[in-house]
Amino acid sequence: MTENLLNFDAQQLTAWFAEQGEKPFRARQVLRWVHQGGESEFDAMSDLALSLRSKLKQTACVQAPKVMREELSSDGTRKWLLDVGTGNAVETVFIPETDRGTLCISTQAGCALDCAFCSTGKQGFNRNLSTAEIIGQLWWANREIGKSADGNWPVTNVVMMGMGEPLLNFDNTVSALRLMLDDNAYGLSRRRVTVSTSGIVPAMDRLREACPVALAVSLHAPNDALRNVLVPVNQKYPLRELMAACQRYLEKAPRDFVTFEYVMLEGVNDSAKDARELIALVRDVPCKFNLIPFNPFPQAPYKRSSPEAVRRFRDVLMQADIVTTTRKVRGDDIAAACGQLAGQVQDKTKRTHRLMEVRT
Ligand code: SAH
Ligand code: SF4
Repeated sequence: MTENLLNFDAQQLTAWFAEQGEKPFRARQVLRWVHQGGESEFDAMSDLALSLRSKLKQTACVQAPKVMREELSSDGTRKWLLDVGTGNAVETVFIPETDRGTLCISTQAGCALDCAFCSTGKQGFNRNLSTAEIIGQLWWANREIGKSADGNWPVTNVVMMGMGEPLLNFDNTVSALRLMLDDNAYGLSRRRVTVSTSGIVPAMDRLREACPVALAVSLHAPNDALRNVLVPVNQKYPLRELMAACQRYLEKAPRDFVTFEYVMLEGVNDSAKDARELIALVRDVPCKFNLIPFNPFPQAPYKRSSPEAVRRFRDVLMQADIVTTTRKVRGDDIAAACGQLAGQVQDKTKRTHRLMEVRT
């Protein structure tokens, strides 16, 4: 069997090399070629012994998921739909800004958690992505866009906010995170890598120990009654436990705040009263809020809050000294929001119709 080297973090690659009777520094060299250099051909790895190169050609490969389609938004946002086999597709989105380039990556095909406003959730759960499929999104996007004139890769920040719940694919997510942070691979600082979770409390504790990176928590509701409906996993890990887990996480986190994501749903969770209830809820958790205008999808039972409602909500939070940003709607013309494009491909009945909608 050929081994896909994108499946290994530094420690795992060293162990695999040791099994082949190769020294740790060889693993380090290969790690650098593959991740720092974006190289997939062993023949090009010129500082490896010829015998090792030819052995690796027999036993290993470097293979990211196949791209089924690429879309480019008028605002520069790029979105790739990746084939992960047996009819499953996931998406990766690159968002360029003046001072950084953010890549939003997926960790699962589908998602089991079925949040009421999420099109990924509506598809159900297909499977966990492998480490190669997770880190392959970063490897591939860097290669595809190419280094800038000063020799840097375009992706400076990674957010795990694509399809799936990263903390329910824990081991592969952590291996991918370790590669992002590794100086022989991507060398990103912990502050520039963000895991977004719907609040899997025990896994938040494990992440804090295994690989603390910046944390975003999908809150979306100020009380258990509403959150039980919008984010059903709340029935298992209610808000009191979630807030305590956030506090514990902050003991090891690279940033001294948690980012709470809050999708704005008209008439559901966007009143001034909701904002005041939130302030009381998060009183003991150093945090920032990121308000996300709801991205509608076919059959979605919700509407996007009006800009006035979002402003009013933000003002209430800001008056309580909570730093609050509103997510810019990026890539709207290519449906570059959680789960959307892959959702269109999954639902093959209306596929052609919807693809035309996306393009026009
Ligand atoms: N499963 C993780 C990460 C992926 S979702 C999580 O839930 O945090 C990334 C973010 O997109 C989450 O905050 C999620 O709640 C939000 N989201 C999902 N569907 C959305 C939609 N239709 N419009 C706006 N945001 C959405
Ligand atoms: Fe899963 Fe996150 Fe979508 Fe909820 S919002 S269904 S946790 S991907």
